[in-house]
Amino acid sequence: DVVLELADVTKCYDNGPAVSELSLSVREGEVLTLLGPSGCGKTTTLRLIAGLERPDAGTVRLRGRPIASEETFVPAEGRDVGIVFQEFALFPHRTVAANVAFGLPPEERDADAAVVDELLELVGLGAYRNRYPNELSGGQKQRVALARSLAPEPDVLLLDEPLSDLDAGLRVRMRETVTDVLEAVDVTAVWVTHNQAEALSVGDRTAVVTDGSIEQIDSPRTLFMRP
Ligand code: ADP
Ligand code: ADP
Repeated sequence: DVVLELADVTKCYDNGPAVSELSLSVREGEVLTLLGPSGCGKTTTLRLIAGLERPDAGTVRLRGRPIASEETFVPAEGRDVGIVFQEFALFPHRTVAANVAFGLPPEERDADAAVVDELLELVGLGAYRNRYPNELSGGQKQRVALARSLAPEPDVLLLDEPLSDLDAGLRVRMRETVTDVLEAVDVTAVWVTHNQAEALSVGDRTAVVTDGSIEQIDSPRTLFMRP
């Protein structure tokens, strides 16, 4: 089942197209990585999926429903799309549990909600629920951000260079940690990275992005074995 589909999506800024007739589809439970150098249009693609930008042309569909097209535009708050950014963006004077609870809809936003502790256990931070972000390592902060983004059970989770602020050793270990969490909740995800090894190790499929379009899309194994 296709959860997310972009069909011939174009987004231009003053200096030209950032995304150019880009098409892709992501299946239920799949992790698709977008791999490409800085400036190739990866973040703009995520912003188009999240509803933070409106395409100039083309259609974005979520579970078959057009959420952006010439006729329609569903803004970010009307889409069940979560985002994890490179910088962790936690509330500094709220506890870890309260930060995760912030991902829940306003009427359910309670640091003592069972789902908060379930998510903290899942990301390995059950013992840190009452700590504050400045007491955590970078990897732990990113795990809190991941738990927060999963709290509302998004249809699609977007990850924008989620490991790039971490030091090299941790970055490699976190690939597996984050992949295990995504698999455990069976979320459909689009994971942006400029790091080839990361794309190949975390993705079910990898889309190679060049100048705002997809040059090639394949399983990491197939891409990796290409001469
Ligand atoms: P990537 O995430 O792959 O580094 P981006 O999607 O951020 O690429 O950027 C793609 C292109 O669009 C770049 O040339 C960038 O300078 C340009 N761009 C991105 N956002 C804006 C903006 N808000 N205004 C003008 N140009 C932008
Ligand atoms: P409050 O004053 O409600 O306790 P904070 O002091 O934690 O909230 O944050 C002040 C404001 O900063 C928030 O209302 C919010 O707009 C912004 N902010 C801080 N951290 C974040 C974040 N992680 N994501 C989004 N907005 C944030």
